[in-house]
Amino acid sequence: MSFVEQPVAIAAPAARRSRQARVVWGDRVVTVGGDAPVRVQSMTNTDTVDAVGTAIQVKELARAGSEMVRITVNTPEAAAAVPYIREQLDRMGETVPLVGDFHYNGHRLLTDFPDCAKALSKYRINPGNVGKGDKRDRQFGQMIEAAIKYDKAIRIGVNWGSLDQELLASLMDTNSLRAQPWEAKQVMYEALITSAVESAKRAEDMGLNGDQIILSCKVSGVQDLIAVYRALAQRCNYALHLGLTEAGMGTKGTVASSTALAILLQEGIGDTIRVSLTPQPGEARTQEVVVASEILQSLGLRMFVPSVTACPGCGRTTSTTFQVLAKQIDDFLRLQMPVWRGQYPGVEKLKVAVMGCIVNGPGESKHADIGISLPGTGEAPAAPVFIDGEKAMTLRGEGIAQEFQQVVESYIANRFGEGRAA
Ligand code: SF4
Repeated sequence: MSFVEQPVAIAAPAARRSRQARVVWGDRVVTVGGDAPVRVQSMTNTDTVDAVGTAIQVKELARAGSEMVRITVNTPEAAAAVPYIREQLDRMGETVPLVGDFHYNGHRLLTDFPDCAKALSKYRINPGNVGKGDKRDRQFGQMIEAAIKYDKAIRIGVNWGSLDQELLASLMDTNSLRAQPWEAKQVMYEALITSAVESAKRAEDMGLNGDQIILSCKVSGVQDLIAVYRALAQRCNYALHLGLTEAGMGTKGTVASSTALAILLQEGIGDTIRVSLTPQPGEARTQEVVVASEILQSLGLRMFVPSVTACPGCGRTTSTTFQVLAKQIDDFLRLQMPVWRGQYPGVEKLKVAVMGCIVNGPGESKHADIGISLPGTGEAPAAPVFIDGEKAMTLRGEGIAQEFQQVVESYIANRFGEGRAA
């Protein structure tokens, strides 16, 4: 065997280059961009007028790991409810910053309901929905004035479903005069980026600081999102919020969001993310936070929960025992995390393996902090457990799942608890 000259390069996400923005509620400061971790965001789907129901869902999303939660503020009644939602959250000890999502009437709501404007930590402004003609600049200006007055961050959130049609028409006209006109899609990309960047500049001209501004240009196609954000990141250094809008349901929405976001995040583009999943009937709203966190964790950008490595199973293991155990351990670890985060610092880095047979079971289990190799079809009914790369015990009988969970719990307490070994 001959030596190669160069080792294989280690893959890692490129450094992000955006400036840092701050989203603040009381003592809680969520930094976005620069060297801050990529943040997870989410949005409620409750009626904001239902202050208690909305506060409960905000808390659930925050407990699942959402670092900012957006709520719809669409009517005077919704605006009036916002301070009560904030109050409920504060009373529950939940300091997650609230973001108000405004369209069409945000200028009036932020002016007429100062307590709403104060209770929010960030205003989402859609330049395509702030008004038409001469009203547009005035109404956009009123929202920026509120952000300046109450010292709030804003997100200029452009969406191709509600793109500024006057701007698009003007860019189409310009394009038609080119010797070689761009494709219609390229003009639309340009309109999205111009709308975001020009609106941000206008806000800065009015006196808002650059560190109060976050931009987004959301589209629902994976390749479109990649194209738009690559160009947007080149054209400005504002912190960027990333998300595939209207990603869809279940597997489709999860895969499409993960594909688009992973490619951009690996290139160092994106400072906050949201996964816009349509909940399946009966599915928790928190699923979008779970997926967003998993994207960041899979890329090695953040660690949120211990990871469970499990094999897919094959003809060597025809029972479902290992599938059930893998799910049980995964559910258990996730359920415990809100408590463990404070109790066992660093526990999110734990790696657990649950494997189906002897082929890769012992090897994969040794790579994990703690792993179990369950017996495949025809193997002796014994499950060796590996701790820190060494075989520590063998479990047998009906109670393997319960016993393995106890082994994991005691490993966590020993390694991450207060009396942990040095
Ligand atoms: S570890 Fe065993 S059961 Fe699991 S996929 Fe590999 S061969 Fe199949």
